[in-house]
Amino acid sequence: PAPESQKEAEAWLQRHAAGFGLFVDGAWCAPADGGYLDSLNPASGAPLGRIARATVQDVDKAVDAAVRAQPEWQALGGHGRARVLYALARLVQRHSRLLAVLESLDNGKPIRESRDIDVPLVARHFYHHAGWAQLLDQDAELAQHAPVGVCGQIVPWNFPLLMLAWKIAPALACGNTVVLKPSELTSLSALKFAELAEQAGLPAGVLNLVTGDGQTGEALVDHPQIDKIAFTGSTAVGRRIRERTAGSGKALTLELGGKSPFIVFDDADLDAAVEGVVDAIWFNQGEVCCAGSRLLVQESIAEDFYSRLRRRMATLRVGSPLDKSVDVGALVDARQRQRIAAMVSAGREAGCTVWQADGEGPETGAFYPPTLCTDLGTDNPLWQDEVFGPVLAAMTFRTPDEAVQLANNTRYGLAASVWSESISLALDIVPQLQCGVVWVNATNMLDAAAPFGGYRESGFGREGGREGLFEYLTPRLGPCVA
Ligand code: NAD
Repeated sequence: PAPESQKEAEAWLQRHAAGFGLFVDGAWCAPADGGYLDSLNPASGAPLGRIARATVQDVDKAVDAAVRAQPEWQALGGHGRARVLYALARLVQRHSRLLAVLESLDNGKPIRESRDIDVPLVARHFYHHAGWAQLLDQDAELAQHAPVGVCGQIVPWNFPLLMLAWKIAPALACGNTVVLKPSELTSLSALKFAELAEQAGLPAGVLNLVTGDGQTGEALVDHPQIDKIAFTGSTAVGRRIRERTAGSGKALTLELGGKSPFIVFDDADLDAAVEGVVDAIWFNQGEVCCAGSRLLVQESIAEDFYSRLRRRMATLRVGSPLDKSVDVGALVDARQRQRIAAMVSAGREAGCTVWQADGEGPETGAFYPPTLCTDLGTDNPLWQDEVFGPVLAAMTFRTPDEAVQLANNTRYGLAASVWSESISLALDIVPQLQCGVVWVNATNMLDAAAPFGGYRESGFGREGGREGLFEYLTPRLGPCVA
């Protein structure tokens, strides 16, 4: 990053050294019981700031503000809301370097990724949904819909700002108001974003930010005046939220985990496919819900493909998230590192072959090297469970049918990637894969205009595109004119 943005981030953190507030009803306030959580830099373990832990009382205040603000925000009309969303998108662009530094400091992701991918996609999401807001005033079908009301939104730590944008932009465009809870591990970019929302002229109470851990999340989920819960996170917490909201009348969307297959046929462009694997599993340290974490390679090319892959892995640089030349940064915290290391050790004990390039990166901090695991059975947890780290499990197949059968042998269904120079083979395989999105000769292509979401334990509901917009609208009868 430019040194100025790093300095700006440090000054901003310094200004809030006593603790960040909660953003409720257009103002910053301390948590009711004065409770804070430490936010740590995962690359060094050093504290970055103190994050307020919102209590039930704080969540009540935030929901109350959102309830009061909703009718006026809706009444502003699509064009009025679009004006604010465009202003917000421009402010995100203007502060993109600072936001990228904060994201990399807090989450551990390489600055190249937060600066060139995450933050630009955030701005794009707001521009895109500002456009939808304008259409809401004109489109006959959309006019037959009303906002859902007050939305409680809970996001994870892997793409803190991007997941926030995926949630907030469509909700606000449709005339809903929001109480959002970021992950307790990565709240900094959300706090900066709330400042930008204030500057953009978002009316008080339209967006409220309550930081805190799972208890704050539960207070939001349980709140009787919330009309919809939108959750992105682990399958385990998603299941819990589904149970807690059952019978409540709340609308619910869940974006959960994944174990996505990456299928390489023998006629694929192997060098391009190797680069695809790098993006699929080592982008964001593999902490990606749609990471291509299960590699399926056609048997006839497997040895050649594995050796090309190992050569490429040896060139990946693991290191400081703020270093522009780094490919793989730090995991989000030491706990994740321990969990991933334990899963790989257990896999090794169960007989799988583990390959890592020499040199594990920095000695301190939550770093873990790119890892390739072969010689495993389909019942191995490395093949079945979400590792959520830079660990690729690989297996071979002989025929397209076998590839499809292995790819679908999972309780998840978020994404898949198919690599072949034969378009007819690829188009034959795509509809057989049971998941929300399939990429051909590509991976991790996410766009505000494309709906994203899962099958089975990967959740339900869509984010992005027209489908994502309808998750924040409810049908209503138009006026009956005789
Ligand atoms: P997590 O489930 O532990 O936490 C997610 C959020 O839920 C956090 O804000 C957390 O504080 C909150 N939370 C925790 N317990 C809660 C409870 N009982 N009630 C309400 N809220 C609670 O997930 P994580 O570890 O932060 O994120 C990683 C997971 O997110 C992975 O499984 C990943 O696949 C998934 N993810 C999915 C998508 C998608 O679009 N499908 C995108 C990104 C991440």
